[in-house]
Amino acid sequence: MPLRDTVDFLLYDWLKVEQLNQRERFADHSRETFNAVLDTCERIAREKYAPHNRTVDIEEPQFDGESVILPQATHDAYAAYAASGMLSAAQDYDIGGMQLPYTVESAANAFFACASVSIGANMLTVGNANLLMAHGNDVQKQVFAHKEFAGEWAGTMCLSEPQAGSSLSDIATKATPDGEGFSDDPLGQRYRLKGNKMWISTGDHELTNNIVHLVLAKIADDKGQTIPGVKGISLFVVPKKLVNPQGELTGERNDVALAGLNHKCGWRGTVNTLLNFGEGKYPVRGASGAIGYLVGQPGEGLRCMFHMMNEARIGVGMAATMLGLAGYYASLDYAKNRPQGRPMTAAGKDATSPQTRIIEHADVKRMLLAQKAYGEGALALELYCARLVDEQRTGSKASVNEARLLLEVLTPIAKSWPSEWCLEANSLAIQVHGGYGYTRDYPVEQYWRDNRLNMIHEGTHGIQGMDLLGRKVLMENGMGLQLLAQRINATIEQALPLGHDFAMHANALAQALQSVGRTTKMAWSTGEPREALANAVPYMQAFGHTVLAWMWLELALASQADGDAHVGRRAAARYFFHYELPKIDAWLNVVQARDMTCADLPENSF
Ligand SMILES: Cc1cc2nc3c(=O)[nH]c(=O)nc-3n(C[C@H](O)[C@H](O)[C@H](O)COP(=O)(O)OP(=O)(O)OC[C@H]3O[C@@H](n4cnc5c(N)ncnc54)[C@H](O)[C@@H]3O)c2cc1C
Repeated sequence: MPLRDTVDFLLYDWLKVEQLNQRERFADHSRETFNAVLDTCERIAREKYAPHNRTVDIEEPQFDGESVILPQATHDAYAAYAASGMLSAAQDYDIGGMQLPYTVESAANAFFACASVSIGANMLTVGNANLLMAHGNDVQKQVFAHKEFAGEWAGTMCLSEPQAGSSLSDIATKATPDGEGFSDDPLGQRYRLKGNKMWISTGDHELTNNIVHLVLAKIADDKGQTIPGVKGISLFVVPKKLVNPQGELTGERNDVALAGLNHKCGWRGTVNTLLNFGEGKYPVRGASGAIGYLVGQPGEGLRCMFHMMNEARIGVGMAATMLGLAGYYASLDYAKNRPQGRPMTAAGKDATSPQTRIIEHADVKRMLLAQKAYGEGALALELYCARLVDEQRTGSKASVNEARLLLEVLTPIAKSWPSEWCLEANSLAIQVHGGYGYTRDYPVEQYWRDNRLNMIHEGTHGIQGMDLLGRKVLMENGMGLQLLAQRINATIEQALPLGHDFAMHANALAQALQSVGRTTKMAWSTGEPREALANAVPYMQAFGHTVLAWMWLELALASQADGDAHVGRRAAARYFFHYELPKIDAWLNVVQARDMTCADLPENSF
């Protein structure tokens, strides 16, 4: 089933995305306008992205001491993406946007991620500009965000430091007021920043004529002291090249220096950098220190940054998903064409008969169906979350709050589940190819390498697990979890009367949901975080599998008609309920028992 057919099914048949057109913001849209966007993105992805996926893997970004050199294909892909208008797709008409629902924007961007996940990192620019639209002052919106939406400048997010990754409260980058009149600058209160930022994606390049860094730093007092913990963190917009309040380049280079590039396992099309802020390599107005303008209030930096991080987390989940599906399509194609072996019958094998194609072997079918179940299930989850984002932005008061709470609970799953299971899908895609899959003659090993990043960035797997069990399922008296349970129960109610597989799946899902609820209480029954969170990742795995089982029951309900695609989806649902959902018991058992096998083992015994 080609990706476009799956996307159309999910958007129109399942999510009924056309109904959004009844809302004022989307009133000018129709299925035709949505299709036009999908067609354009599918075409650009096919022409400008897919043919160069291997090129950007082999021709890693280079730093010649002055600038970063990227393959021409990356420049062409960026130009085509910017010209498509996708950078401002969700924005208002009056600033050049399309007022496109986020659900359709996400689906359209999926084609690029499937074709070449690393050739473009436009998600960062859009997320950066969206953050400024939410928390920046009017001049910051006009000068920085609008230029990013127009594709003239690109954006980054600079959180991590060499010594502070998961623990952002330990960042050491400092900001000090930039002399007299620092608080009167129209671009925002002006500071000088000094510090090192590690792992910064798209931190330097020549794709655009300026780069807008969003940087977390701590404001130092007169004695150079900062407030410990996240309360001390503020957010600054730091352009690579300085600009005036009209958004024109002043000709001055800001004191942001590229210290070096990171050479990665995968995702090599996107340059990754260590940036030094304010070390004095490019002194500004005679002094070292990168000029940065405060965004929002002092001490609110991480809260503002979360605006970008939540979008980024859904984006990471989508990227992982599309890599999973890219591997599925490649291995499906290979399995249909590779002759190998003969069927085993009661009379043994007939060596004189022609060989079968490997897609006829049950084990290969198992590996293909697993990939389909992981990839298409994950795509459904990402688009479901995207639909919640639209609800949060344009729904009624009650539905806005419900969408917000559901997103709180589902975001760690949307980020982490595809990162783990679509990576597993990529491993199965290699397995389907046998030895050939382990070579660079086929694309699947690159998909695996590219996907391996997703469990690490935007909050590691471990951090997401703790966020889910330590915060999200508890917040606001467990309201998010209760709302999710209501939605899952509504699907169960729909499926039960249909009998057969539907009723069996519905009962299995009901049991899984009860187990997750019971386990949440048991994990916290001693009120001791060290015990409750010792097995946060197995909890997240079980929670994620339960959510995905729900997705598959939903998709099966929407696939009751005849036809190959519907049969395939019902089979993937059956696969998920028979082969995957039963795994949750093992994961939940250790959480329920607050099993301390790992947590208590003394270091010397490893
Ligand atoms: C290719 C790439 C691109 C990136 N892009 C960006 C970017 O654009 N901007 C940016 O700011 N950052 C970026 N990052 C950084 C990324 O977000 C961090 O790598 C990530 O947050 C983890 O931090 P760390 O690498 O320091 O690992 P650490 O935080 O040292 O973690 C190492 C291990 O310890 C575990 N761990 C850490 N703390 C705990 C805890 N309290 N409890 C349990 N387990 C724990 C982690 O889960 C992990 O398994 C990128 C990273 C990579 C690799």
